[in-house]
Amino acid sequence: MRIATFVYNGTRQVGQVSEDGQQVTPFALSTEQARRGALPLIEAAVEGRPLPAFAGAPLALASVQLQAPLPLPRRNLWCVGRNYHAHAKELSASVFKDSNADTKAWPIVFTKVPECVVGPFDDVQLPGAAVSEQIDYEAELAVVIGQGGKNITQAQAMQHVYGYTVVNDVTARDVQMRHQQWDMGKSFDTFCPMGPWIVTADALDGRQTRVRCWVNGELRQDGPTENMIFDIPTLIETISRGITLYPGDIIATGTPAGVGMGLNPPRYIAKGDVIRVEIDGVGHIENRFV
Ligand code: MG
Repeated sequence: MRIATFVYNGTRQVGQVSEDGQQVTPFALSTEQARRGALPLIEAAVEGRPLPAFAGAPLALASVQLQAPLPLPRRNLWCVGRNYHAHAKELSASVFKDSNADTKAWPIVFTKVPECVVGPFDDVQLPGAAVSEQIDYEAELAVVIGQGGKNITQAQAMQHVYGYTVVNDVTARDVQMRHQQWDMGKSFDTFCPMGPWIVTADALDGRQTRVRCWVNGELRQDGPTENMIFDIPTLIETISRGITLYPGDIIATGTPAGVGMGLNPPRYIAKGDVIRVEIDGVGHIENRFV
């Protein structure tokens, strides 16, 4: 099942996308429920309640404006750095210079603030040269947590996955490296395009899919999620150590090789660039940088 959050006739709604991807049928949610995007459906699933009834006829997908499936996540998004071998290697002279990627026992974990999430086809705002001139893309599979929990084991972890979506973990590289944490360089306004919807875990195994990214039509990233250094169960186990995960929490699982900083010379995002991130079995997002 694919669950989309969208605006139709000026009102935010949440609906199920048809098999052929041409239509979306809204659920009967109150305005207050729909304000939280797909979260009420995730909570219903976790509590064993049925999906809400449909409200009205299917709408043509082309007639709605898709938003991020969780337009304002309940708290910071968990994100993982250096999680594909080839990406760790390409940034070994810069971001990851103090680490030994292949033998490191623990993943790098940082967060993005919820307010930086934007829709799958929204513009991303470049911050201006005075703030950063090193804006980069990171195509990523994002895990959406269903059943929450603390100290979740790897063996149990996949039972806590509600579904998957696509994010671009947009990054200001100079700011990322300037501070003792990454959150600031990762959390600029509009720096987390997300969507186009959530695919539920019964329809996709995120451990076996493919992440790709194009910049102005040029393929830059292409990585199978099997190549993660820390797989999804390990990430869930790690992040839930001593910290309760909640339904609707998001874990961005890291990016494959091919980011702009890893090119020689580096190629950062310029005004007008269009970046498309696609994940097999989920769909794509595409954002213009302005
Ligand atoms: Mg990232």
